[in-house]
Amino acid sequence: MRATIMYQAGDVRIENIPDATIKQPTDAVIRVIRACICGSDLWPYRLKQADGHGQYMGHEAIGRVEAIGGDVRKIKVGDLVIMPFAYSDGSCDFCHEGLHTACSHGGFFGSPDVGGAQAEALRIPQADGTLYPLPVGEDHALMASLLTLSDVMGTGHHAAVVSRVGKGKRAAVIGDGAVGLCGVIAAKRLGAEQIILLGRHPDRIALARQFGATDVVSERGDEAVERIRELTAGQGVHSVLECVGTDQAMATSMGIVRAGGGVGRVGVPHYDVIPQAQPMFYRNVLVGGGPAPVRAYIDELLPDVLEGRIQPGLVFDRTVGLEEVPDGYRAMDAREAIKVMVKP
Ligand SMILES: [Zn+2]
Ligand SMILES: [Zn+2]
Repeated sequence: MRATIMYQAGDVRIENIPDATIKQPTDAVIRVIRACICGSDLWPYRLKQADGHGQYMGHEAIGRVEAIGGDVRKIKVGDLVIMPFAYSDGSCDFCHEGLHTACSHGGFFGSPDVGGAQAEALRIPQADGTLYPLPVGEDHALMASLLTLSDVMGTGHHAAVVSRVGKGKRAAVIGDGAVGLCGVIAAKRLGAEQIILLGRHPDRIALARQFGATDVVSERGDEAVERIRELTAGQGVHSVLECVGTDQAMATSMGIVRAGGGVGRVGVPHYDVIPQAQPMFYRNVLVGGGPAPVRAYIDELLPDVLEGRIQPGLVFDRTVGLEEVPDGYRAMDAREAIKVMVKP
């Protein structure tokens, strides 16, 4: 079968690999119906060193179940399913607490062990806990929005939950990629009155406004901080959704968060130390976040997608076949595309 492998920065190839098969009785195999390229895939696309090892790519998908292992009970052959970016058993203490990304038997797709979703098919460990069967058909008009429940919509929602967005509160979203745009949807959905997007690309800003952003700040660094203080009566925002992962984004977060406010981090951190630790302490700022337990959030978000109250699928502005995935990476890296959907 064909699958996406990244060898080093800028070097993405579609190659033949052994077919996905059942290895454990708790596995399933899905035929990938839709996958996508993630903003987080751009980190290795920019930074991966050549070490002779290719990395399987892709961790977001909707698929059709083709085979199940002998211990799989809830998932059936033929089910149309959402595949969250992490697999989980659905039965350990952490899964019961709704933190599936800390599952005792869990892990992440796009690893040598499991494979990636930018492929024709994929082995799914812990199928009963991981996969979420959909009550709709494959040609459903909401396919794009349903696909975002595998990562970006759930991740934007996590940033909003962790930073304690609530009714009448002020929120700021750092990052105008697909996760940041979904963060805008999430902040609005949870009742934020003012939603400030920090971003600078006209197409993304337009989409953010459509999703509910009330203000846009295109400055960076100290200028951005100053501008947001002006927009918030000098106080800053209650909630910062940090959807980038750089030290500059964290420094800006600390500059714009209100005393007693929260910062929800969902951008994979590419820094060792959180900047501004002293102001964070003296101003009682809560910093939280991490890999979003998107499996737990599907129950809450799915009805809003199915009933059309939110349309996170609008973040996809390009669709490619599997063989064109390398060009999809190039387009996202060049900011020509916000998010690329893959139809294998
Ligand atoms: Zn992702
Ligand atoms: Zn678990």
